[in-house]
Amino acid sequence: MDKKEVNQGIVYLVGAGPGDPNLITLRARELIESCDVLVYDHLANRRLHDWAPSNCERIDVGKSPGRHTMDQLEISKILVEKAQDGLKVVRLKGGDPFVFGRCAEEMLALDKEGVPYEVVPGVTAALACAAYAGIPLSHRDFGSSISFLTGHEDVAKESLRVNFEKFSEVGGTLCIYMGMSKLEEIVGKLIDGGLPGDKPAAIVSHGTLPIQKKLLAPLGDLVEQAKEKNFLAPAIIFVGNSIGLSRTVTWFEQKPLLGRRIALTRASGQKSRMRSALESLGAEVLDLPLIQIQPAEDRKLIAEVFAGIASYEWVVFTSANGAREFMKLFFRAFSDIRSFGPMRIACVGESTADVFKQYNLNVELVAKDSTAESLAKELVATDSLDSANVLVVSGNRNREIMVEMLEGVGRAIVDTLPVYQTDFADVLEAPDFLRFKKEGADAIVFTSSSTALSYVEQSEDIVFEPDALTPILCSFGPQTTKTLEENELTVGLESSHPSLDGLCKSLITYFAKS
Ligand code: SAH
Repeated sequence: MDKKEVNQGIVYLVGAGPGDPNLITLRARELIESCDVLVYDHLANRRLHDWAPSNCERIDVGKSPGRHTMDQLEISKILVEKAQDGLKVVRLKGGDPFVFGRCAEEMLALDKEGVPYEVVPGVTAALACAAYAGIPLSHRDFGSSISFLTGHEDVAKESLRVNFEKFSEVGGTLCIYMGMSKLEEIVGKLIDGGLPGDKPAAIVSHGTLPIQKKLLAPLGDLVEQAKEKNFLAPAIIFVGNSIGLSRTVTWFEQKPLLGRRIALTRASGQKSRMRSALESLGAEVLDLPLIQIQPAEDRKLIAEVFAGIASYEWVVFTSANGAREFMKLFFRAFSDIRSFGPMRIACVGESTADVFKQYNLNVELVAKDSTAESLAKELVATDSLDSANVLVVSGNRNREIMVEMLEGVGRAIVDTLPVYQTDFADVLEAPDFLRFKKEGADAIVFTSSSTALSYVEQSEDIVFEPDALTPILCSFGPQTTKTLEENELTVGLESSHPSLDGLCKSLITYFAKS
């Protein structure tokens, strides 16, 4: 049977907000997470695409090098056809779909073909730029109206449609979209229309993004200063008395890592906490997974270990990933947490120990400096290992030292249970590899020796373009530093403590000094 007969498709015209992915609505997120087709252009943050199901079809209808720009008719045609195939289509539009978003044209095309649609509003650029740049748009005494106007960004295109001279009489606050290529003309007309040269004005480019730039200047100086400071689209131009009350530096601009680009090398899917922590400090995060982690399931071994689970006196976890995989396997084998038995738990670091907190399981030992070596030493120092049964849960790397020390010095009887496998991931496949190569980064963070080794092995592929920033190599802890240095790489920064908190603090201190 034809899909169309089973299912009626629908199009959601969804506001993607101005750039910061956190400014999207709950409704928009819900729709992205469940769509069959995602249609987007460059104004919608690429991070939003990550929420779409992996089998969702992604269609880029924006400008991109080497491909012609789709015109509005072609875009509308795609929306209609996909919905007629019975699919749930999300059309992401920057900011709000109804504010200079050509949404009306898409609506008409859908109406004409009888395709159902819904519209989800978004935070429009003028409001978001004002909030993130500390520019009040209204004030009881200085500004009682707010106007949204459009200039035109494409120099080749038609002349200004808005009668700017007339708008100088309107007063209040003017928010001008798409005005950068005609800035001089717009300012000239506003002044010709009667606005004084000392009227407060501002430009905010790339608002809400880590690369946001703000210019506060009197209207008469705006063009010259914008040129001097190289202000580029996308930007909003603000004019009005309330702009005079703007903060020179805002909460957003004070973020300690604002404007810093930081590449993360952990396996994809692993680093959302690290990403959100760095992003909330203002950094732009590049995804450069250099390792991939897969569960390693030796069913026979797992069955044996779980059959004798009550016989272990210590279970040792060398990574959070190992702890999580172990708990998954545990609950596959047992339905009751009491089957865990009386064993004591030792963890390499706080984030590993956190896994057990969720189950209200007490962790008896957490290594002080978060390395496998110190964990082994501290375990030996408990004097509880002689002839004790110990289970070491780990990945496929770096467990030898641990086992050697526990067996050799501690005289324990050690079983190992590998629960995951770490392999190198192809850097060329990394989501942000092209940007990393082209623009570089301020820092690249190596969270483990395996990420460092993968970097070394693939270094021939990682050649920066001439204008790219050279990142400092940032290591998560002593072991990773050792691996980098053994491979003749200079470590620019080692985290003061191998934890997310330690990493963030070290990066803040480092960049505050530089
Ligand atoms: N529908 C969008 C506007 C689309 S028109 C909205 O509601 O925001 C595109 C223009 O929006 C750009 O030329 C620029 O003027 C403005 N714009 C979009 N994102 C912006 C951003 N992050 N910072 C500054 N201006 C932005």
